[in-house]
Amino acid sequence: MSLQQKVELKRRGLMFILSSPSGAGKTTLSRQLREQYNNAEAHETLVMSVSVTTRPPRPGEEHGRDYFFVNDAQYKDMVKKGEMLEYAQVFEYNYGTPAGFVREHIERGVDVLFDIDWQGTRQLASKSRDDLVSVFILPPSMTELERRLKARAQDSDEVVKKRMSKAFNEISHWQEYDYVLINQNLDETLEKIDTILKAERLKRVRQSGMAEFVDSL
Ligand code: 5GP
Repeated sequence: MSLQQKVELKRRGLMFILSSPSGAGKTTLSRQLREQYNNAEAHETLVMSVSVTTRPPRPGEEHGRDYFFVNDAQYKDMVKKGEMLEYAQVFEYNYGTPAGFVREHIERGVDVLFDIDWQGTRQLASKSRDDLVSVFILPPSMTELERRLKARAQDSDEVVKKRMSKAFNEISHWQEYDYVLINQNLDETLEKIDTILKAERLKRVRQSGMAEFVDSL
């Protein structure tokens, strides 16, 4: 092999999970991360897994972009047919990850970003530990979390109260995650997430073409 020739190794994609209580900044972080990784010059290297949910859409949410909004019967049918990679009830609604999209991208070496809760993370960890990287985002304080939830003004006081009490439950699972970050400053947190993703991409288990390369030496 000539010295000038660039070695291109095949890589397996990873499942990159971001979990947090609502209001900790996860939605903004995942959007910015995707923008960073999928700019015009770069190949698509990080895609978002769009979940199925029985929750009604919030104003501004789009079917197929934010969620696939389905009814109870459609949801149950998908679960029954084994089409969900993981699924769980969160608040009073059902959520699940369609399996086909994820598998197809991972095989092609494209990373998949998930915004799922601890229940889904646990299911994926028991199924696909080697492909999984999980990050838990903490708010700097519970007062700040409440302030952010109220500022969002999408939800009523009643809903904010419910989400606050759920937040404590969600946070209690922080030790089940590979990485835990305190989101005090959005740019700094984004930089840390970027560092994690870059390093995780280099792990030996993901370099599916390495054995072939070593054999060729
Ligand atoms: P929201 O209704 O605010 O969009 O989401 C509520 C919670 O459900 C969030 O914590 C989010 O991470 C979680 N969630 C969204 N999609 C899924 C999914 O497919 N599976 C699981 N387990 N949780 C999900």
